[in-house]
Amino acid sequence: MEQFEDWQVEDMVLDTVNGLAVSKLNKFYPTYVSKATSLPLDITFKYLSEMAKKGRITLSWELRCEECFRTLKTVDSIIPFLNDELICKYCGEETTFNRDNIFPVFYINEAYKKQQKDNVQVKKKLALRRAITL
Ligand SMILES: [Zn+2]
Repeated sequence: MEQFEDWQVEDMVLDTVNGLAVSKLNKFYPTYVSKATSLPLDITFKYLSEMAKKGRITLSWELRCEECFRTLKTVDSIIPFLNDELICKYCGEETTFNRDNIFPVFYINEAYKKQQKDNVQVKKKLALRRAITL
């Protein structure tokens, strides 16, 4: 990994999430941001978690079936579900939840989505004004 300053990494992650906020998506996985920024997954997750503390996004966890890998449950906290057993409603297999089949997912908060979309609108208007005045 190249050497980046803390603020640069923060900006890279924020720019990527800003882009997601103006899209139709309402959730994303840290792996997407890691690929988009070329940052290691653990670093990406750390910065996304910090963004979540500030309220732009919300961290949830998807509990997946061990067999068919589909999401069986989305929860705010994994602790109460560790070692829980659940029958998969898709394939009928029993899954025990552990750290290997629980995945972080971030939900994009509505107010943040709205603000980002408004910002894009303002930028488009400014660009248009510049185009007709210069
Ligand atoms: Zn299944």
